[in-house]
Amino acid sequence: MRPWIIAGSLVGASLTSAPSEAVAPQPHVVIKTEGDFRIIQANGIPNHVTGRFPSRQNPNAIAAKDYTFRVSLKPQVATKPIATGYAWFGVALNGIPFEPGTQEFWKEDRNSGWHYEAVGGESNLGIDQSLAHVQPNGAYHYHGLPHGLIQLLGGDNKKMTLVGWAADGFPIYANYGYQDPKNAKSALKKMRSSYRLKLGDRPKSTSGPSGKYDGNFTEDYEYVSGLGDLDECNGRFGITPEFPQGIYHYYITESFPLISRQWKGLADSSFQKQGPPPGTTAKKPRRENGPEQLNR
Ligand SMILES: [Zn+2]
Repeated sequence: MRPWIIAGSLVGASLTSAPSEAVAPQPHVVIKTEGDFRIIQANGIPNHVTGRFPSRQNPNAIAAKDYTFRVSLKPQVATKPIATGYAWFGVALNGIPFEPGTQEFWKEDRNSGWHYEAVGGESNLGIDQSLAHVQPNGAYHYHGLPHGLIQLLGGDNKKMTLVGWAADGFPIYANYGYQDPKNAKSALKKMRSSYRLKLGDRPKSTSGPSGKYDGNFTEDYEYVSGLGDLDECNGRFGITPEFPQGIYHYYITESFPLISRQWKGLADSSFQKQGPPPGTTAKKPRRENGPEQLNR
């Protein structure tokens, strides 16, 4: 596969068209294959309109990064799903990483085990129109459907749209897939996840949020096999435009988990973040978005 290079934009705007007074770095990504691997090098600058950052809900400015991700060209399904933990789930074709979960805990208590959801819950984590925001180190990242990128790729309900690569090497698509996963001529349909809100109330406890399961927390959801179109990793086997022989592939859905919280295969270590997870060394847990960001 030839290197796929973005300079300025997916639709081919050239660097020379950038305003001369611009100080912001231009988006840059190179995707190439080397041996058994696909290498994604990027500076993490989005190539589409974003929300205004820093904002009141998200005090961090977008900064250029120096990403080099590597995924297998021969991805293998693991014996069971693997939790992503403190790692990027994958990377989009424009070099922006995917990270659906948060390190925002109930009462800032890591030990509570209750993580706030970035999208759809009450907490306002400054998510923009591409369901993205910015980490304290300047990393712009997606929590759900990257609408700005999908638009540039000409997708939504018109075609099955490859949007990125998971750390295990399997492809990630936007939310439309073939009605019949074995038939590329079948109609497109919006994929439904097989997760739902748990019924009833959270356990009554002083070490957890209690109250109704309402989607504010990741732990409010449960997987019900067969409920939707997709498995517990928000994917399925089937034909895709890029893989006419069929492959396991992920979807990003409109509802939980949006982006899978688990990998189907073994992730490459290049998706692990540098340094310890927030809060493990600091006396006070550090929130993903800084000290004042839970706007509930
Ligand atoms: Zn985030």
